[in-house]
Amino acid sequence: MIWYPYEQMKTMRTPYKIVDAEGVYLYTEDQKLIDSVSSWWCMIHGYKHPELTAAIKEQADRFCHVMLGGLTHEPAQKLSQKLQEFLPGDLDYCFFSDSGSVAVEVSLKMALQYNTNMGRKRPMVLALEHAYHGDTFKAMEVGDDEDYHFAFEEKQDVVHIPTELAALEEAFDKYHDRLNCFIVEPLLQGAGGMRMYDISFLQRARELCDQYDVLLIFDEVATGFGRTGNRFVADLVLPDILVLGKALTGGYIGHAVTVTNHKVFQAFYSDNDRHALMHGPTFMGNALACAVALKGIEIFEREDYMSKIKRIEKISHREMDGFSDPRIKEVRIMGGCVCVEVYDGAVLDGFQQFAYERGVFSRPFLNYMYSMAPYIIEETELVTIFDTMKAWFERTGA
Ligand SMILES: *Cc1c(COP(=O)(O)O)cnc(C)c1O
Repeated sequence: MIWYPYEQMKTMRTPYKIVDAEGVYLYTEDQKLIDSVSSWWCMIHGYKHPELTAAIKEQADRFCHVMLGGLTHEPAQKLSQKLQEFLPGDLDYCFFSDSGSVAVEVSLKMALQYNTNMGRKRPMVLALEHAYHGDTFKAMEVGDDEDYHFAFEEKQDVVHIPTELAALEEAFDKYHDRLNCFIVEPLLQGAGGMRMYDISFLQRARELCDQYDVLLIFDEVATGFGRTGNRFVADLVLPDILVLGKALTGGYIGHAVTVTNHKVFQAFYSDNDRHALMHGPTFMGNALACAVALKGIEIFEREDYMSKIKRIEKISHREMDGFSDPRIKEVRIMGGCVCVEVYDGAVLDGFQQFAYERGVFSRPFLNYMYSMAPYIIEETELVTIFDTMKAWFERTGA
């Protein structure tokens, strides 16, 4: 049987069984649902996109996968070239992996080893309260192979701070000579509750990281490709390492990338074998994933997705600004994300089924009801999502 994610298997309700999917719609045997979650935020072009499907089929007819250990291929080469052009600054060096969590692990290993390669001990990581960077745990630590892991023996301590300037200053004051990196989900913290914060925090973080040679890592697995209303937050403040996943895949097949600037790459580029990055997921640079990502970026540019996202944001404000209820703590809107935070998560019990009956798939969690729809969504469909959210409070408000 299937063991489902984040579920108490004993009490979970039966999941909706999807038999088809096209555009913004998921189909069950008896219902057609607007996917307001974009399959965990990755399905930005909609399901069964003819060009993406064609790209993956064409590649499948050649080959589906070869490892990048000692081999290379055109889809991976083209994707790294494309990302180099598409991403800001000198974020030019692409390390591929098979999921966002692994790409985050890679970024953290890079930051630690960046320092050990320079003969410095910097065992600490600075991160944000309410951060989410993936679910991986201990694979490397339980492994026992000095040749793979020698660079990472030191235990990494993590310090968490809120997204407040005073806390940022204090953390750098205290720890600057021990920090190897500061990792953030920039502007929008997703799984931690769709929390939004100001760019000035990241601008100051960039200055402090420069001052103390601490690497700034942007985990844009969720925010990348327009979700915040910026192509990448990295367009506004340039990190040293950028992690992309989710929307990069067009929602077709798991893949991610850790992209670094010249400074980081140079710290590994040497005559010493022990300065190499000892990491290599089996499915890194998967040919199907690269082919579909290339096509996805092409469509993102050609169809001017940024203007689609601006339109979604405008409609979101029009429909949701000022919506209130005594049970609602806050309505937050940024780019292609709308979040309704309630005081008590129990208020959202039953909302998923309520939405289902109205033709919307939603997956509220904890105290958060949200929409992160595919960018190709039509205005009427978007309004249906918001009307469904509002109707829930209006109905149970009686
Ligand atoms: C989803 C997510 C991840 C993990 O990505 P997976 O592909 O699920 O491993 C990492 N960071 C952020 C910010 C995410 O939203």
